Amino acid sequence: MTDRIGFIGLGIMGRPMALNLIKAGFALAVHARRAESMQPLAAAGALTCASPAEVARHSDVILTMVSDTPDVEAVILGPDGVIEGLQPGAAVVDLSTISPSVTRSIAERLREQGVEMLDAPVSGGEVGAIQATLSIMVGGAAPTFARVRPLFDAMGRNIVHIGGNGAGQVCKSCNQILVGATIAGVAEALLLAQAAGADPAKVREALLGGFASSRVLEIHGQRMIDQDFEPGFKARLHQKDMRIVMETAQELGLALPSAAMIAQYLNALVGRGLEETDSAAIYRVLQAINAREAL
Ligand code: NAP
Repeated sequence: MTDRIGFIGLGIMGRPMALNLIKAGFALAVHARRAESMQPLAAAGALTCASPAEVARHSDVILTMVSDTPDVEAVILGPDGVIEGLQPGAAVVDLSTISPSVTRSIAERLREQGVEMLDAPVSGGEVGAIQATLSIMVGGAAPTFARVRPLFDAMGRNIVHIGGNGAGQVCKSCNQILVGATIAGVAEALLLAQAAGADPAKVREALLGGFASSRVLEIHGQRMIDQDFEPGFKARLHQKDMRIVMETAQELGLALPSAAMIAQYLNALVGRGLEETDSAAIYRVLQAINAREAL
């Protein structure tokens, strides 16, 4: 593959994913809002760029990994955005988790310029990003998916083309309902164990061998037992994802009670100033609800 690759957004996820592309032999042009975020990439041989437009001028495939829907709109369509530097025949791949409907409208806008876009949100957390074992759920045209597949292979393991533009983001919403509901379930189970006098660490160990086993019980359960909520996946980003889920549910007139409950736990967490903690700290919200002080 001779495509030149651009990468924009070098946070917890973007930095290791970009490094894995370099490790796999791709030449990268990168941009991050804060110059210091680009240093590890520059040290690994990437070309650093002053804006998303400059990245696009140097690239055939441009990947974005920023925070929220307005950030992707700004980076791709805004002033000095990718759209200002696009080369003929380029492709844009958004790896961030954002709104499916806005994704479809950005893709439409890029198609008017003759540029195809894929939405390719990921799951697997920082560990998956570092180890290149991410699940990648892709929406967009099949030929573009085939073109970009070698990049996905360098960053992930379970790569599924779900359907047209926005379908990857819909899949990610489904993922976040399951992850959030499982975090809340694990938190309730460990709180019950603690309150009823059973060692939560032993309970986790036993459950990991049975039908209740999950990656969330393994990883987030351990975080709850250790009371260690270093992110990981920041509560404010999980809150954002549940907002996207609820917006989509509202657009479709769909009742998703469990998703709504998770969104409320995350509101409480962020409202308590814990937006930068790992979303496993939902445990802390349930702990607070169950505190034994007189009401
Ligand atoms: P993060 O550590 O906060 O990184 C986000 C990066 O995007 C930062 O470098 C930030 O720049 C940059 N950015 C945000 N808005 C921007 C804008 N308007 N213009 C330019 N740069 C901008 O977040 P992350 O954990 O890497 O998450 C990135 C995306 O992946 C999110 O959509 C998240 O939901 C998704 N995701 C995260 C995980 C996880 O476990 N962390 C797992 C799966 C998916 P600054 O540093 O200057 O703020």
